[in-house]
Amino acid sequence: MSKTTKDIKCSFCGAGKQDSLMLIAGLDAHICDKCVNQANDILAEELKLRKVKSPLQSSSTILKPAEIKAHLDQYVIGQDDAKKVLSVAVYNHYKRLNQKIGKDEVDIEKSNIILVGETGTGKTLLAKTIAKVLNVPFCICDATVLTEAGYVGEDVESILTRLLQAADYDVTLAERGIVYIDEVDKIARKSDNPSITRDVSGEGVQQALLKILEGTMVNVPPQGGRKHPDQKMITVNTSNILFICGGAFDGIEKKIANRMRTQTVGYKMKSEDQDIDLKNLYKYISPQDLKAFGLIPELIGRLPVLTYLTPLDRNAMLMILTEPKNSLIKQYNKLFEYEDVKLNFDREVLDYVVDKAMEFKLGARGLRSICEAIMIDAMFEIPSNQEHHKHLDITLDYAREKFEKSDLKKLKAA
Ligand code: ADP
Repeated sequence: MSKTTKDIKCSFCGAGKQDSLMLIAGLDAHICDKCVNQANDILAEELKLRKVKSPLQSSSTILKPAEIKAHLDQYVIGQDDAKKVLSVAVYNHYKRLNQKIGKDEVDIEKSNIILVGETGTGKTLLAKTIAKVLNVPFCICDATVLTEAGYVGEDVESILTRLLQAADYDVTLAERGIVYIDEVDKIARKSDNPSITRDVSGEGVQQALLKILEGTMVNVPPQGGRKHPDQKMITVNTSNILFICGGAFDGIEKKIANRMRTQTVGYKMKSEDQDIDLKNLYKYISPQDLKAFGLIPELIGRLPVLTYLTPLDRNAMLMILTEPKNSLIKQYNKLFEYEDVKLNFDREVLDYVVDKAMEFKLGARGLRSICEAIMIDAMFEIPSNQEHHKHLDITLDYAREKFEKSDLKKLKAA
């Protein structure tokens, strides 16, 4: 006996035709629109869970420190000590996330990291690359825009807004992400006497950061800022978010030297003193120096992994130009390949670019602007020039001429 239209019901919830928008027929069953939607939600949720678990699911799939470092080596030149420390810290961090709560007695502490090194030495690049290797959401924020709650500027919660955005508002994913806070040295305590005036962009921010670094439930405005007072807050647990802070800490060498001098006087043999690498005092940095610089001890305590980046020498700069997977020279080659042009940089040009970058004292960041100054005319003209050659040789004369007439050159002169 065949069923009449009236008899047809959803095989999942039993809703009749009149109760639903649509009933979809299968071989021997029907499903209503509401059940389709519900099934879709269940599927999305399940897939999301699998996505979160997949990259770092079990301890066997966590990349080992040596593997993490090998990945970093492809993008970041030198900085071996920082790479090693970072790889281990990140490995331990994700091991901690996989720890079965309540089963193990030893509670592995969170290993937030602080990177100290001159500008343009690769601090941001390291943090960015780590996040890429681990395939977790990543955001960069600048400590200088933060202020204590209630003052003009951004609240520290805005950091988490960025992370949420990077994770497409997927809270579970964001809660395993990495945040890079740049220029933490700029929120150092302004004076030794904290009571004179309120230090809302210095110590005030350090105090505000403590909470989120340690791990707590934070109410985050999804659109950020205070412009949307009615927005519904999203609660984010920061316990498993890895924070990496970076800063140049200009002048900290003096504090390191002072500490080392007072430590060494009368205690160390002359010959041992000579082992100290005076050109790179950063490598002797200790939490005490950060305190002397103006970070509060509570904040230092929440950034237990401290490492340094060395200033880049000529050789490193040359390698940065050519070696990394996405080095500047490789990028220019690719850009010109699209125009069917084979680009060649003479060796002297690379030396010239490095020399200029050293003059600017911007670390590797200067390399990009100098190359742009040299290449801008060619990049402008070649695409619309039908009769261009298939080869473009960038010679020293060409590079020098283009650089000399660039605004960059004027900047230097001024
Ligand atoms: P920092 O955060 O230390 O001021 P960045 O990481 O932002 O410096 O570096 C600026 C740019 O210089 C990067 O985009 C990168 O291209 C280049 N760079 C700096 N240091 C290195 C390095 N050690 N290896 C490769 N590239 C580097």
